[in-house]
Amino acid sequence: MKNNLFLYNTLSRDKEPFEPLHPPYVGMYVCGPTVYGDAHLGHARPAITFDLIFRYLKHRGYKVRYVRNITDVGHLENDADTGEDKIAKQARLEQLEPMEVVQYYTNRYHRDMDLLNVLPPSIEPRASGHIIEQITMIEHILKNGYAYVVNGSVYFDVEKYNQKYPYGILSGRKIEELLSTTRDLDKQDEKRNSIDFALWKKADPEHIMRWQSPWSEGFPAWHLECSAMGKKYLGEQFDIHGGGLDLMFPHHECEIAQSQAINGVAPVRYWLHNNLITIEGQKMGKSLGNFITLEQLFSGQHPKLEKAYSPMNIRFFILQAHYRSPLDFSNTALQAAEKGLKKLLEAGNTLQKIPFGNNSTSDIKALINDLYKAMDDDFNSPIAISHLFEAVRIINSVKDNTETITAEDLELLKISYNDFVFNILGLKSESESGQNNNLVNGLMELIIEMRKDARNKKEWATSDFIRDKLSDLQIQLKDGKDGTSWNKDI
Ligand code: ZN
Repeated sequence: MKNNLFLYNTLSRDKEPFEPLHPPYVGMYVCGPTVYGDAHLGHARPAITFDLIFRYLKHRGYKVRYVRNITDVGHLENDADTGEDKIAKQARLEQLEPMEVVQYYTNRYHRDMDLLNVLPPSIEPRASGHIIEQITMIEHILKNGYAYVVNGSVYFDVEKYNQKYPYGILSGRKIEELLSTTRDLDKQDEKRNSIDFALWKKADPEHIMRWQSPWSEGFPAWHLECSAMGKKYLGEQFDIHGGGLDLMFPHHECEIAQSQAINGVAPVRYWLHNNLITIEGQKMGKSLGNFITLEQLFSGQHPKLEKAYSPMNIRFFILQAHYRSPLDFSNTALQAAEKGLKKLLEAGNTLQKIPFGNNSTSDIKALINDLYKAMDDDFNSPIAISHLFEAVRIINSVKDNTETITAEDLELLKISYNDFVFNILGLKSESESGQNNNLVNGLMELIIEMRKDARNKKEWATSDFIRDKLSDLQIQLKDGKDGTSWNKDI
């Protein structure tokens, strides 16, 4: 296998040639969602980024074992250590069993990923299915002297660890600075040091999700699950670990410390981080009123949205930026992406119909070479897309008889266009499903309008009839201050 692939390693802050530990096998771990709510734009970017990387490595002939976990326990509200468990809290609010919340949002996450044409990972383990592995790791860390037990909880001793291994190598943070900038411990805090982090937490009496351990009936802390599942499915050392930039510290930094405290070796060869999405220059957040779920994007039901945007429109929009660059969401940018995508897909159809001639007026082999060069340079999808638009120009010129292409070049172009547009970038024509979506959205608008009209005329029987019939179809109506929205359960 010719290896020209370079990737940017957060650990070395440099581009490095990709040399897997056991070629052609590649182990890749990506932190998956905490399933307590619908997936939003912030979930789409890492999913699509690592889907692109998964697809390209496979295209290059690697046999990739891609592990993306589901966090279903131990992710506390504030950081790894304090607040209520995010899933337990949602279960309390919705009056459901925590595992019902997990299943419900996992199903919906899978549906959204399917729509975005994100391939399922090779293994999708759940944290709650790996409690024994996590307890074993904690025992190991304690035995090696890098953790301590207080009142049934176990904490990682960062200062002790830092005497032997540098803590902060991934994020570039220095322990002295962390100590001076982190909050002082309050009296109730069990930790010896504010930068120590939990490995196991003793459960309060009201805490629902709990397991037996040597220290207490409790639950594992969030950082530990990825170390445990990465090791179980990919080994003590593996090739690629990915996730959003927001996970680099403390989550990934803690993963390195946990694994190194046990094995004495760095667990991961290449750390890859995708940059985040902002909305009209702002961070996305519930309090800012710009929190947009994927379902809302696909149906256009959010005050910030001028219209519905198809899943492929979202996918192409994300791929048009390099994964390490910031990406700002706006209606204008999405509508520009929609036009570009349409051009690209239309040229794919035209390509099947154009004739060949005696010579090629453009250098097709150089163009294909450029496509690989772009992807080999740290998966540079925007540059690859710009070369695809050069192909679009050639295809349309041949169609208009202003350029010619040989039979051999035409065949090469067909293969590469297909490989890059559909297999690597993972785009697909959604004219059929897109038309259906538009039809459903249009019909729903009409039905909601009719119900509103009935309510205005106090025709309660009609408005109840509409609501009940929609409910039979698993469609829920929600009346809010911005009007009525709808939601389909799956
Ligand atoms: Zn993780």
